[in-house]
Amino acid sequence: MRKTQLKAENTIEIVHQDIPEIGENEVLIRSIACGICGSDLHAYNFSAGYEFVAKNVTLGHEVSGEIVKIGAKVPNELMYRQVVAQSMNYCSKCEACENGHFSLCTNNRVLGLHFDGGLAEYFKIDAKYVELLPEGIDVEIALLAEPLTIAVHAINRLQIDLKGKTVLVQGPGIIGFFVSILCVSKGANTYLSGLPHDYEKRLSKAESWGVKSHVVGETDMEEKVDVIFECSGSSNALLMNTKVLKKNGKIMLVALYEHPTEVFFTPVVRNEWSIIPSYGSDPNEYKEALQFIQKHQEELKALPTYYDLENITQAFTDSLNKQVMKAIIKIGSVEENNNEYFNTTISAN
Ligand SMILES: [Zn+2]
Ligand SMILES: [Zn+2]
Repeated sequence: MRKTQLKAENTIEIVHQDIPEIGENEVLIRSIACGICGSDLHAYNFSAGYEFVAKNVTLGHEVSGEIVKIGAKVPNELMYRQVVAQSMNYCSKCEACENGHFSLCTNNRVLGLHFDGGLAEYFKIDAKYVELLPEGIDVEIALLAEPLTIAVHAINRLQIDLKGKTVLVQGPGIIGFFVSILCVSKGANTYLSGLPHDYEKRLSKAESWGVKSHVVGETDMEEKVDVIFECSGSSNALLMNTKVLKKNGKIMLVALYEHPTEVFFTPVVRNEWSIIPSYGSDPNEYKEALQFIQKHQEELKALPTYYDLENITQAFTDSLNKQVMKAIIKIGSVEENNNEYFNTTISAN
């Protein structure tokens, strides 16, 4: 099979290797489509904080495909099902997992960073980390469930009814975009902010979903907001808009930061603003994400730019240069697998 490997800084190669053997609790997935995410870009250019990434790893943790082989202890009904992989492989045993905070698992291993992921014709994963696709969902777009769960998690962490509330989402990357369209779907009056150069490729795309654009430096916000979702990852932007935050408002921190930042906490105290961080997502949030995708899949299909596996380097370059909102690599066909080897091998081990 063909698989990609991160061979060196900014260097991905396509290599030929045997299809991986699976263990008794694992499934083999034929990749159909795989998205490229910000953390893939950090791994690709060997950013600080990504030293944990496995050597020669096959990247790809936003991946949908079809189960083509199952381990001896995996239920037969999973065979040939279309699935999306859960990226965070939690342990279920640590204190965080026992309390249901799976994204905070002490032993968390991320697909496509700690071990080989979906940018290959086939990859394997423990059966407990697959999410079955609902009927009628487009498998090539279903992988967006993975980044969408980050937005679902942030809104769940907020723990307020957004209906009738006004929110400002900072940062029009894919996570900020998803947070903003989810807020609209929950009845919030929603602004998405970005810089002037973000308008054409990013902010304007959210407008058709009912999101209002706020171009930083060009216009002032007209109304005060109940919640700010910080999705920009820019230390400067972090508390830039607090003058529009109502008293007792909430600041959700969803982005990760490359640099330390200084915060003057007196206004935070005087206004009783809550600062609530949100990290990753929990397994039970995939269902909501998939339902949202199913409902809006025609509009969502227009968002990504699609590449073949051969053009993987171009996809990374375009993503790094912010030329695309989301790069998706099409790897396998959507039709059922006709490979004789798999049709005669119902289960393994
Ligand atoms: Zn990601
Ligand atoms: Zn755990």
